[in-house]
Amino acid sequence: MNAPRFVIVGGGVIGLSAAYHLARSGAGRVILLEQGAVGAGSSSRAGGIITGHLWSQTGVAARKISLRLFHELSEELGAYGYQYQAVGCLNLFSPAAWAERERLFPLYDAVQTPYEIIDADEIRQRWPLLTPEDDTVGLFDPLGGYSEPDDYLPALAQRCRDLGVDIREGVTVSDFVKERERVTGVRVADGELLEADQVISTVHSWTNRLLAQAGHPLPIKSFVHQRYLTAPLTKAAKLPAVNANPYEAYLRPAKGNRILVGGETADRPEFGTPSLDFDMDQLRSPSGFSDCLRDKVQPLLTVLKRQRFTEERVGLISFTMDGEPIVGAAPELPGLLLGASFHSGGFAYNPVVGKLLAELATVGETELNIEAFSPARFCAAATDAYLNLSLRQKDSFPRRH
Ligand SMILES: Cc1cc2nc3c(=O)[nH]c(=O)nc-3n(C[C@H](O)[C@H](O)[C@H](O)COP(=O)(O)OP(=O)(O)OC[C@H]3O[C@@H](n4cnc5c(N)ncnc54)[C@H](O)[C@@H]3O)c2cc1C
Repeated sequence: MNAPRFVIVGGGVIGLSAAYHLARSGAGRVILLEQGAVGAGSSSRAGGIITGHLWSQTGVAARKISLRLFHELSEELGAYGYQYQAVGCLNLFSPAAWAERERLFPLYDAVQTPYEIIDADEIRQRWPLLTPEDDTVGLFDPLGGYSEPDDYLPALAQRCRDLGVDIREGVTVSDFVKERERVTGVRVADGELLEADQVISTVHSWTNRLLAQAGHPLPIKSFVHQRYLTAPLTKAAKLPAVNANPYEAYLRPAKGNRILVGGETADRPEFGTPSLDFDMDQLRSPSGFSDCLRDKVQPLLTVLKRQRFTEERVGLISFTMDGEPIVGAAPELPGLLLGASFHSGGFAYNPVVGKLLAELATVGETELNIEAFSPARFCAAATDAYLNLSLRQKDSFPRRH
């Protein structure tokens, strides 16, 4: 009997992670199809910030696994030039926003997700470059940190190749092939059919474009998002990764003694991915946005006063109707698994989501209960109503990483 064949569509962090876990399971042949180059979507544009401090039971439990896997991957991918930066992740809150976060501590305790509450004085002492307002509250995640996408993506792709994954770049999937209502493969742009025992779609903001051919859209909205790098400083900045919520931004140290700073454009309308072969390089940030972002963050990180941003990366983040990701079997399309819509946290989610997708593809169930992530949780009427709304980013979920 032939070994099963798994076809993954999309070569971002989620697709690569699924390929890695499938290849390691030894369950069969793994082919990954990517329309551009590996990482061409949001993954190469990400800040790479990782925290376990999410807001739902499933999210917190999943991130706990992700953080463990990031530490393990650091060992395994060390020879490929990747290192997880375990600098911790500091989540900042205004007093008004703190009450809502405090309500999550029983959940963090139950899942055994560690946290430290620190005030503005202690933040200044631990990281002298940070100068928060006196009433800022800090929630420190000692296991958090960041991964440099420019190191992580090539390292994971090479590890996949070494494990036998057949990565095909420059191949656009145009449709899913169905036989007796089961997905049995994919059609690529030149009309060629590729058979599969299991297809896994990890095409992020292209998801509804691809699903449109099969007739089952999901309630997903995408928004343009951008991050920047400073010029090199004279020495490495001693900083954790910071979700600087009161400053509408996030930041972290970056390679080459730089600092990475990112933020949303709250008033910008949602972005509808125009076509299957849409290229994210076409996205632009609004004129003057980088200066505005720097002005917002400067009170927290005064070193930015003397800095100009020298590099910009612009991509998309996407949100479902309830703000939780989509991981699981496509409704009414057996043979197809979906991994999509990880808000601004898909980089942080990737190790655990790859593992979950591999479990679903090989044994049909997951160790972690991920009912809350199931694509089947949305009904068609609610999905249609949501897709017909026209949203701005500020109308979506204020969720960071
Ligand atoms: C500026 C910015 C900063 C961010 N910062 C962070 C952060 O600090 N931490 C964090 O956790 N997350 C962050 N994110 C979010 C994170 O980047 C995404 O959630 C994550 O990269 C999603 O990964 P993915 O593999 O699902 O999508 P992608 O990386 O977009 O991959 C999807 C791939 O599918 C391919 N594809 C699409 N259609 C087809 C087709 N028909 N055939 C073949 N291939 C196809 C695309 O070319 C693409 O490469 C950030 C995002 C942005 C834009």
